Amino acid sequence: MSSRTVVITGGAAGIGRGAVERFVAAGDRVFALDRDAADLGDGVTSVQVDVSDRAALASAAAEIGAVDALVCAAGVQRYGTVVDTSPEIFDEVMAINVGGVFFACQAFIPKLPRGGSVVVVSSVQAYAAQTSVAAYSMGKGALLSLVRAMAVDHAADGIRVNAVCPGSVDTPMLRTSAAQFGGGRSTDEVVAEWGRSHPLGRVATPGEVAEVIYFLSSPAASFVTGADVKVDGGLTAGLAVVL
Ligand code: NAD
Repeated sequence: MSSRTVVITGGAAGIGRGAVERFVAAGDRVFALDRDAADLGDGVTSVQVDVSDRAALASAAAEIGAVDALVCAAGVQRYGTVVDTSPEIFDEVMAINVGGVFFACQAFIPKLPRGGSVVVVSSVQAYAAQTSVAAYSMGKGALLSLVRAMAVDHAADGIRVNAVCPGSVDTPMLRTSAAQFGGGRSTDEVVAEWGRSHPLGRVATPGEVAEVIYFLSSPAASFVTGADVKVDGGLTAGLAVVL
């Protein structure tokens, strides 16, 4: 059992919540920062923060104090080509998915000790875009550059910074998209169909992504920094052509 203090943004649902459960299971004390309030059980303190509010992140960091690890999972999915993305959607995606990570790192990296770590949740969309996710893809790509910049800037402080890039994961975000684009089919049917586009034949559970986040943040990954680890069931490994 470890007993680190870990801050997880987006901890109230989905991948972030899976990470909360994984760290708590390891004996860690978790602060779940989310714009939604949630009762996440023993070992977890829920802090209501909108990650697009950099002042709120800074005051959360001042209140929480020393932290051993940071996980940035808060994010939103919005749709549109570069032509039909409104300025409001563009600003929202950049403020939450990019600014929310940048300013969470700005607030919490100074709290990390030597041996501390940051894990950022990017996406396979950083490598290969589906249609109509221009702003989201751009933001997820930007996170990989930010991870590499932070990894080299803070290596001398003994702080490691890595990214995970999930394929489709069964979370409220995915189910909302499935309801929106499913053409009236059940969300289970749509999620199963999306799963078949992954070579492993299914979407991931939040716990499967959380396991990789946990590994990257732990001393077991002591020589891993600046990496982006795909957790995508082989989605980006092959062409969607079956002979
Ligand atoms: P989700 O919508 O199921 O959960 C996201 C959580 O983040 C929610 O609790 C939400 O309240 C919180 N959040 C959103 N905006 C916030 C804000 N401004 N401030 C504070 N909290 C905020 O989403 P998810 O599927 O778990 O996605 C988590 C991360 O993983 C996101 O960055 C997403 O882009 C990424 N991702 C998801 C998938 C997928 O298939 N689900 C795939 C690749 C990457």
